[in-house]
Amino acid sequence: MSLPQHVTPSQVTDVAYLPPGLAQPSPAGDGLDAPYWGAALQNKLMVQQCNGCDRFLWGPEWVCHACHCFDLRWTEVEPRGRIYSWERVWHPVHPALTNGCPYVVVLVELPQAGDVRMVGNLLGEPIDRIEIGAEVEAVFEHHTDADPPFTLVQWRRAETD
Ligand SMILES: [Zn+2]
Repeated sequence: MSLPQHVTPSQVTDVAYLPPGLAQPSPAGDGLDAPYWGAALQNKLMVQQCNGCDRFLWGPEWVCHACHCFDLRWTEVEPRGRIYSWERVWHPVHPALTNGCPYVVVLVELPQAGDVRMVGNLLGEPIDRIEIGAEVEAVFEHHTDADPPFTLVQWRRAETD
């Protein structure tokens, strides 16, 4: 499989995966997920971890669902995971995606972070066969022209050589 031109061989890209014009997500103002967005700007993946029971949590929470402890920390984890589930989107849900379909949404499980699962886009050829359990790695998609700048964490199949 060859990567499309908009996918670089490194883990870092300044090129948007989604077409221009689509309303972009940006960091929330409540501060709860600020460490995640800040880390992504630096090409790092962080998830919460409980100081009471050491379990990982995702998405960002105020309290641990396992032990109800409010004392949570942010931990950098390896930006690699495996596909837990996926969906190929054929119908655009926004006018900016009219020429962007199909694309693949993946639910990525992070084995080194207690198997927490993150939703993201799978980069690469969207009609290629997708295997549950396939190894993936994060791609940090920087939107440096946004105000404030932000980074989306996307995913691509991991190198297997
Ligand atoms: Zn806990």
